Amino acid sequence: MNLSISENLNTLKNSLPSKVTLVAVSKTKPAADLLEAYTEGQRVFGENKIQEMESKWQELPKDIEWHMIGHVQTNKVKYMAHFVSLIHAVDSLKLLKEINKQALKHNRTIHCLLQLKIAEEDSKYGMSEEDLHGLLNSEEVQSFQNTKIVGLMGMASFTSNAEQISAEFQKLKAQYNELKEAHQFEVLSMGMSGDFQIAIENGSTMIRVGSKIFGKRNY
Ligand SMILES: *Cc1c(COP(=O)(O)O)cnc(C)c1O
Repeated sequence: MNLSISENLNTLKNSLPSKVTLVAVSKTKPAADLLEAYTEGQRVFGENKIQEMESKWQELPKDIEWHMIGHVQTNKVKYMAHFVSLIHAVDSLKLLKEINKQALKHNRTIHCLLQLKIAEEDSKYGMSEEDLHGLLNSEEVQSFQNTKIVGLMGMASFTSNAEQISAEFQKLKAQYNELKEAHQFEVLSMGMSGDFQIAIENGSTMIRVGSKIFGKRNY
């Protein structure tokens, strides 16, 4: 059975606590699909390729909030610095420095999340807890005027083991709690189509859901 994007979106939205922000992950999907979700009131969209996000930004209504959820190459930051709202997967000082530089050119402040590595499998990007603390405490980072680190992001292992997923999200939540006050964090981005309920149980404030809204992707 194929439900429509509108039906999928509304069912999902009705099941979410009001304090959880839904990022509709529209990577690989045509602009028409995003527009269907937009018509239902969705304003926050997530993409993982900068050029694809940029062309959708050009084509679609300008009150959409664009989130870059994928791994970012430093040399491509300039293609999104003029419009991106939140970059989820910042994992190095070098990248943050480039975001700050490009944001300054456009006289903007770009909000960022730091990605912590929480999955047991080692294919995932993200920083160790040590590097995370080092970055947050570095004087150079504290001098950046055009970036604001507003929270943390993480991805759990791709597994059906709910206990493992839960344990990984708890690790992220614990770091978030530890740093929240001192760094005025307000966003904890965790949870995708397969694990967003577990993420919400563990304190997620922002979920990134694609296939459950737009259907399977053909890569
Ligand atoms: C693709 C992607 C998602 C959404 O995945 P679904 O399983 O389709 O919900 C979430 N986060 C990141 C970082 C992604 O790349």
